[in-house]
Amino acid sequence: MRILPATGCTFCHEGAKMVLFITGVCSHACWYCPLSRERKGKDQVYANEHRVSTPDEAVAEAKNMSAMGTGITGGEPFERLDRVISYASRLKKEFGQEHHIHMYTSCAPSEKELSDISGLIDEIRMHPPVECWREIEKSEYIRSAERAAGMGFEVGFEVPALPEIDLLIPALQYLDFLNINELEWGETNAPEMRRREMIPEDSVHNAVEGARAWCRNIRRYKKVYFCSSAFKDSVQLRKRLIRIAENTARAFDEISDDGTIIYGRIEDTPFIPDSVRQLGPEMFEERDGALETAWWILAEKGNEIGGKKTIVERYPNRGIIVEVTPI
Ligand code: SF4
Repeated sequence: MRILPATGCTFCHEGAKMVLFITGVCSHACWYCPLSRERKGKDQVYANEHRVSTPDEAVAEAKNMSAMGTGITGGEPFERLDRVISYASRLKKEFGQEHHIHMYTSCAPSEKELSDISGLIDEIRMHPPVECWREIEKSEYIRSAERAAGMGFEVGFEVPALPEIDLLIPALQYLDFLNINELEWGETNAPEMRRREMIPEDSVHNAVEGARAWCRNIRRYKKVYFCSSAFKDSVQLRKRLIRIAENTARAFDEISDDGTIIYGRIEDTPFIPDSVRQLGPEMFEERDGALETAWWILAEKGNEIGGKKTIVERYPNRGIIVEVTPI
């Protein structure tokens, strides 16, 4: 029995989907838009957290995490349809048709647009902006969902949890699934959140207070799946980082339970200290103008080692630095 309504979610739950951010460009101006300042409006591509500029680079990132599928997001992917086609074609060519690709869009794709992505995109997740929800059954989104289903796509809606969420109940009969993302507080939507007197649920997560309660009624329907902010951080992201770390960590990188890697870094050292060299060549690397090695060597034998010593925790594969601790 399938517990998750959308096929794409099953891979996501394993952290096995690469997130391919195809562009930050979008012609909508949703007040709740969660995009960061770094990405919003910028015509740049990211595979997971890495900027990429070719489909081959995206394939390399997919290999780094042994991806079983890809979720294409934005911005609005249909603003760069040629790019969607070239990246999705390359991924399917490399990993085969079974590499599952879902794509978000805030558009209601036409027959021509759907036929352009047919065979490349397996699942479409439409995001009708909240202004359409009151008249959702009369909207082009439902016509588009019917078209897409008739052409063999799995099709659903993916929207944020908003107080108006029950307005989407009439749409359920036309969809394979409705995914609701817990509304998230972000740097670009904070002023609009405050204007609506919304507040973060706590100081740890980005979830907005009340979002769960707004969805209480609609969640009774089988096709509805609620994706919490905490789940995205503590399960999806964590599992994805662990997959990447297991594929890319060096012999001396320690993989944390959160999927980050931890290593030691020595700057301003004119030679490789004996206590590091004795560990063997696989246990150190000269990188970015410093010597990197196991963190515990610095903790245990720091007194014997000159230079500026720190312990670094970061996302795997030279990802975001989480913490730098001087020794
Ligand atoms: S459609 Fe999506 S990317 Fe565009 S403004 Fe709305 S939330 Fe942001």
